[in-house]
Amino acid sequence: MINPIALFLTVFFALNIYSHGSAGSFSKEETKDRSIDFPDTKQYKTLVADLHTHSVFSDGHVWPTIRVEEALRDGVDVLAVTEHLEYQPHNQDIPHKNRNRSYEEAKIAASNKNIIIINGSEITREMPPGHVNAVFIKDANKLFNIEYPKNNKDKDDLKKMVSEMQWGGIDNATKEQYILGNMWPAENAIEAANKQGAFLFWNHPDWHIQSSDGKASLNPMHQDMIKQGYLHGIEVVNGNGYSEEAFEIALDNNLTIIGTSDVHDLIDWDYKPHLGGHRPVTLIFVGSKTENSIKNALKDRRTVIWFKNTLIGLKRNILPLLEASLSIESANYRSNTELLGITIKNISDARFVLKNMSPYTFTNSHDLVEIPSQGSKYLEVKTDQKLSLLELDFDVLNALEAPKVTSKLTLKKRVN
Ligand SMILES: [Zn+2]
Ligand SMILES: [Zn+2]
Repeated sequence: MINPIALFLTVFFALNIYSHGSAGSFSKEETKDRSIDFPDTKQYKTLVADLHTHSVFSDGHVWPTIRVEEALRDGVDVLAVTEHLEYQPHNQDIPHKNRNRSYEEAKIAASNKNIIIINGSEITREMPPGHVNAVFIKDANKLFNIEYPKNNKDKDDLKKMVSEMQWGGIDNATKEQYILGNMWPAENAIEAANKQGAFLFWNHPDWHIQSSDGKASLNPMHQDMIKQGYLHGIEVVNGNGYSEEAFEIALDNNLTIIGTSDVHDLIDWDYKPHLGGHRPVTLIFVGSKTENSIKNALKDRRTVIWFKNTLIGLKRNILPLLEASLSIESANYRSNTELLGITIKNISDARFVLKNMSPYTFTNSHDLVEIPSQGSKYLEVKTDQKLSLLELDFDVLNALEAPKVTSKLTLKKRVN
């Protein structure tokens, strides 16, 4: 006879395992083409990170499980969950006093999966300081404070402010929360996040809603935050946007260069990985794949952004990545000639656009050479005399180490 309790438990656990708590139910084949792959450098392990994402727990449109699932498919090693603390348009349907809920859900979905989920929050203010992400926080609930008015005058004032807000399609309760959330000084939230040992970066500093000229520029409040050591990074890339001014601010103020998806809908809709696209990510160069090592790397500014087909970062980070990605595989002279046949191999997802800066010319290409992602390119070099060591100088047109400054790379190969 079947034990009814055993039967119940079997069904119950089976349902539990395959319901919304799990992620990663896809085949390796499905991830083959969309997985973001960059090699480790000589010194560090290269991790793929997306440090800015939303779910239904703020203004995103998917459950955190889907964020984890997408990240696993994209080969993302580090995923931060960063809901708006003060802007919660789904709060009527998904009320949650505990602002760590999104992180907790993502963490469950990622259990036993090869991905690190980071607890974060988006501190959401008008400019200044605008939106600031705090990642590696311990408790999101300590980073915001919403106090509803007690006396009638304050209640009336709030009503008036709500009625004056030009936010189409947003309910009054959400507007009230946002107004009251903004009344708690941003400095308090930023200090609280720093007390938790968080890593903080300024989000989309060029956002046209908060910067009408579309340019990022530091306000005295940002300068103060930097001076106190409270602001550690800046988004040079957010979604489909790249900010040259933010890049310059990062270099001038020793801020970590960050690129994120800031995804609210589906990665597949926004970035079309099935058509060869990818979300913008931050490559982080770490000693080991642990939260501590990642945080240390971020504070040490060991990052490169992978945005569309461009790599963006400090020279000290970009160069080792280029050296790890590109190499001359073989070099052989054609018999009785000074024509050297070489194969340049690329083991990264970037499609490199190289401009030949060496004195040599090629028999089968002009000076602009493309090396396909995860592929190779054959070139025949006119070396004039037989060399024992080939050195080819390139300008890497799709790698930026400062605004308008592309990276230089020398590929070397011994010739037998
Ligand atoms: Zn934002
Ligand atoms: Zn955001």
